[in-house]
Amino acid sequence: MTDFPRTNWSKSYSYQFRNCIRPTSIDELGAAVRAANKIKALGSGHSFNAIADGDVAVVLNGIPLAPAIEDDGRRVAIAGHATYGDLARFLQEHGLAVHNLASLPHISIAGAIATATHGSGNRNGNLATAVCGLEFVTGNGEVVRVERTDPDFEGMVVHLGALGVVTRVTLAVQPAFQIRQNVYEGLSWTTLFENFDEICAAGYSVSVFTGWGDEAGQVWVKAMAGEDVQAIRGTTPATVKRHPIIGLDPVNATDQLGEPGLWSDRLSHFRMGFMPSSGEEIQSEFHVPRRHATAALEVLVAIRRDFSHLILAGEFRTVAADRLWMSPQYQRDTLSIHFTWRREAAAVDQAVARIEAALAPFEALPHWGKVFSERNLSEHYPMAPAFKKLRDRMDPEGKFRNEWLDRIVG
Ligand SMILES: Cc1cc2nc3c(=O)[nH]c(=O)nc-3n(C[C@H](O)[C@H](O)[C@H](O)COP(=O)(O)OP(=O)(O)OC[C@H]3O[C@@H](n4cnc5c(N)ncnc54)[C@H](O)[C@@H]3O)c2cc1C
Repeated sequence: MTDFPRTNWSKSYSYQFRNCIRPTSIDELGAAVRAANKIKALGSGHSFNAIADGDVAVVLNGIPLAPAIEDDGRRVAIAGHATYGDLARFLQEHGLAVHNLASLPHISIAGAIATATHGSGNRNGNLATAVCGLEFVTGNGEVVRVERTDPDFEGMVVHLGALGVVTRVTLAVQPAFQIRQNVYEGLSWTTLFENFDEICAAGYSVSVFTGWGDEAGQVWVKAMAGEDVQAIRGTTPATVKRHPIIGLDPVNATDQLGEPGLWSDRLSHFRMGFMPSSGEEIQSEFHVPRRHATAALEVLVAIRRDFSHLILAGEFRTVAADRLWMSPQYQRDTLSIHFTWRREAAAVDQAVARIEAALAPFEALPHWGKVFSERNLSEHYPMAPAFKKLRDRMDPEGKFRNEWLDRIVG
C-alpha cells in the first residue's frame, strides 16, 4: 500500500511510515497487530510532534463508527477514530451533548484523549474526563474492554498512543444545551491581570485571544443560554463577528453576537465543514497550575517581543483538575497558555525554549500533542511509574512504542 499519510495536518511534521494498513474489522486489526513488529494508530494527524510516528501506520476509517446510546441516554459508545464532528451529528439526532469541545471538531476522539486535548471552562475537565469506557486492541492482538470501575482505568484514558489501538470509546453525555457566544474587544494586559478570575468565570467556557501585542486582545465568552453574563470590565462588546486571528475573515468561526445555538455549533471556535485557517502553522501550549496563572502571564508579557513576531494567535483557557494519570491537569486546575506560530520551525524552537525557561518556576507542563523542547517528563507526573508498568503489561513487546515516547516517557 503506497497511499498513506506523509505529513501531519499542518504539514509541519513529516511522518517516517514505511507502510500503512487499513483494516475493515476488529479481527483484521487484531491480526495486523499480531503480525507487526512496530505499529502506530493514526487519528486525524492534528498533532505537531512525532507522537504519532512509526513504521506501520494503522488508519481505521474502514471500521464502522457504529454509534450507540447506552445506560438510558447517559453514555454514548462510538469508534475511537470518529471525530467530534461525527459524534456531534449523532448526539444532535438524540438531543444529547458532551460537556465540551476543542477549538475545532475535526479531531478524532481517540487521538484527542491520547494527548488530553481540552476546551475551556473553570469547571470543565479536558475532553478525556468524559471517557467512561474504552476498548483497546493490545500488543498481542487481544481485545480488552475497560470501564471507570476497573483498576488502572485512570491510567488508560490519556494513553499517549502507547497502550494499544483504541477501537471504541464510551463517553458520558447529557441533555443537549444552548450556548450564546459573545466577543469582547480592547482588553488591556492590566485589566486582564487585575480581573483574571472574574474574566475566566464570565461564562461556561472563556477564551482570551491575544496577538501578544501592546494590548491583551479579545475575550470570547461562551455562556449557557440562561446564564447571566456580566460585561467584561474595560472592554467593548464586538458588534460584528470576529476571527480569533484579528484581521482574518470570520466566515469559518462559530456564530457570535449572542445568538443562541446548539452546544455543537458554539463550543468550538471553528465550524464543522470549514478549514479553520490556512493550516500553515505550528502550535505549542503550556499548562500552569491556576495559582500561578497571572504571575506566569506577567513573565511572558515582559518577554513578548522575543517571540511575538512569530505569533499567528495566542489563547488562554482554563481547565479543571482531574485524576487521569498522564493528564497535565492531574490533581491541578490549570491555565493553558497556547501559541499558534508561523510555520518557521527553527525560529519557533528557539522561541519555545525561551518561553519554557521563563515558565520554569511555574511548574509548566507542555501539551502532549504540540511542539516543546523534548526531554523526559516522567518526573513531573507522579503516576508515570504506574503508567509505564501498565504500558509494559498492555504492550509487552513494545509494538506501539516509538522514539518520541521513549524520549518523553522513558
Ligand atoms: C487546528 C488545530 C486545533 C487544535 N485545537 C486544540 C484544542 O482546542 N485543544 C487542545 O488541547 N488541542 C488542540 N489541538 C491539538 C490536538 O487536539 C491534539 O494534537 C490531538 O492529539 C490530535 O488528535 P488526532 O486524532 O489528530 O491525533 P494524532 O495526531 O493522529 O495522534 C495523536 C496520538 O494519538 C494516537 N492515536 C490516534 N488515534 C488512535 C487510536 N485509535 N488508537 C490508539 N492511539 C491513537 C496516535 O498514535 C498518537 O500517539 C489542535 C490541533 C490542531 C491542528
